[in-house]
Amino acid sequence: MYKCQICGSNSEPNTPAHKIIIAARKATYPFRARANACWKWIKERRKFVHTDDRGGQGVERVREVLACAACAMKFANSANGDNAKTDFRNDGKRRR
Ligand SMILES: [Zn+2]
Repeated sequence: MYKCQICGSNSEPNTPAHKIIIAARKATYPFRARANACWKWIKERRKFVHTDDRGGQGVERVREVLACAACAMKFANSANGDNAKTDFRNDGKRRR
């Protein structure tokens, strides 16, 4: 049970919620040497090693709201919804 952050209505119990990404930004992460510490098997012996973090680039969510199914469908069909992505994780239909 949740309150839709777009229309403000309360949902019925056991109704899946949808997360709508309002804003996203590109992000780059730098290479970091010896950032991760872990145990590795090296020549049949466990050894504690530090591995590098490769870094990279991707997309970060800046703002997302919890919405009911009707608002999520409205948002996905609207002209604004071209750039936005809805996350249908709760009902098994994942769309990216
Ligand atoms: Zn709603």
